Amino acid sequence: MSTPINEALIRDVIAEVLGRLGGATASAAKPILASAPTGGSPTGGKAASGAQRGKFGVFHDANEACEAAHEAYLQLSEKGVAGRNKVIQIVKDLCFTNAKEWGRIELEETKIGRLDHKIEKLLGQRGLPGVEFLHPYGLSGDHGITLEEYAPFGVIGAVTPSTHSIPTMACNIITMVAAGNSAVFNGHPGAYKCAVMAARVFNEAIYRELGIENLACIVDPPTLESFAAIAKHELVKLLCVTGGPGVVKAAMASGKRAICAGPGNPPVLVDGTSCLNNAAKCTIFGASWDNNLLCIGEKEVFVLESVADKFMAALEKQGAVRLNDAQVERLSKEAFVFPSGQGAGCPHPVVNRNLIGRDPATLARVAGATIPSGTELLFAETHTDHLFVEEEQMMPFLPIVRVKTVEEGIALAKKAEHGYKHSAIIHSHDVANMTAMAKALETTLFIKNGSCLAGLGSGGEGYANFSIATTTGEGVCNPRTYTRVRRCVMVDKLRIF
Ligand code: NAD
Repeated sequence: MSTPINEALIRDVIAEVLGRLGGATASAAKPILASAPTGGSPTGGKAASGAQRGKFGVFHDANEACEAAHEAYLQLSEKGVAGRNKVIQIVKDLCFTNAKEWGRIELEETKIGRLDHKIEKLLGQRGLPGVEFLHPYGLSGDHGITLEEYAPFGVIGAVTPSTHSIPTMACNIITMVAAGNSAVFNGHPGAYKCAVMAARVFNEAIYRELGIENLACIVDPPTLESFAAIAKHELVKLLCVTGGPGVVKAAMASGKRAICAGPGNPPVLVDGTSCLNNAAKCTIFGASWDNNLLCIGEKEVFVLESVADKFMAALEKQGAVRLNDAQVERLSKEAFVFPSGQGAGCPHPVVNRNLIGRDPATLARVAGATIPSGTELLFAETHTDHLFVEEEQMMPFLPIVRVKTVEEGIALAKKAEHGYKHSAIIHSHDVANMTAMAKALETTLFIKNGSCLAGLGSGGEGYANFSIATTTGEGVCNPRTYTRVRRCVMVDKLRIF
């Protein structure tokens, strides 16, 4: 016996499909996932953006993106914890499989940093905590049972930096979705194409698996106006910005609650009680990582006079190249510029973006120095008021300042850190010195006898996330960061003893 045709059902399915195709005629309809990657290859393998706006998370209009993300948030709620786990697995797997290609695409677009480290940042997504991080808090007593649960906010508006565009977006998606939220991203104008490409791939895969199309939306192209639209959209309940002082200020002024992963200028103190070879090794590793693009990266060193020469000799022995005064002078002239409209009399030159994240060979060329190929870090002795000490320069060049006492070193490190409360590093075996520096600087990450990367689980305990909420104090972001605590109280009953 043949099954009767359910015409109403067929009409519904066609209407749904046409709706998803944005009004295309049925005859023109292609499989929705025609452009979906197979075997882990991203859509078209290109960073070029612009096509397929309003589909699979990519929106020209920020308001539309917020609305679509809200719909996706409601759909995710229907899928429960299992749905969140699936999304996390999809994002982690895609980062892992595409790490090489996406790393290359991001480097091609931004032209800053190092390919090997761009790839590592994507491979590292596997270690991020997920839903299991959200342990509810329970109270049980004579008056019954109370449960506090970590509930989602809804749509989160997120801003990502140029320094790690896809990795920050992926970290944000994993931790925000783990907590049950959806997201709308505004990328950096110089690093958004790769993020748009990755967002589309994430959304396609999520749609294929769960039928949710716009869980991680992104605006293409991002502008200050699109940020403003996201920040004031009524469906956006929380902001999370990762970047420098400008975006932190804008987020704080938005009137929305904002999680701000802000700038840093991490100082290192070498006090003479530690192993100088280890201090040199860790400092080279951290300050050269991704050409010193990391906000946690070692940016200036204060070293006790009694061991300064030995420490710098250890840096040289381990491959770092010392620049002389004339070379530092030439490099400084190029590395710091006056913002347009301000003359050389302006007291606050800023870092030249053309040199941020460039490799040591490029910096050496600018400095007029010849260095062996493969050199990972340049350094020089400078005074403490040097711009390379004061500014967050994000270049594989490290200024080294001699100090007479540990107290002086701590005071100068505090000044160089500018109260960002971001990251600081000490190489010491003296617990009193470690304690004094930690208390004085109050940084979010404080690393003893390791490289800065130990603060993100590489060589130290813990997990990595490229959003470290320093300004607003949530610390290394995790799923709990993106939750609101809701208390549920049962009066006098349910306690089982
Ligand atoms: P950036 O401040 O130039 O840009 C960051 C993001 O903010 C970009 O998407 C940019 O378009 C946006 N933005 C900038 N000014 C804005 C404004 N007024 N309104 C709205 N959006 C604005 O920073 P960058 O060069 O991309 O990244 C490097 C900076 O980010 C460094 O200061 C670094 O320390 C910081 N950072 C911090 C963390 C952290 O976890 N704390 C992580 C990575 C980078």
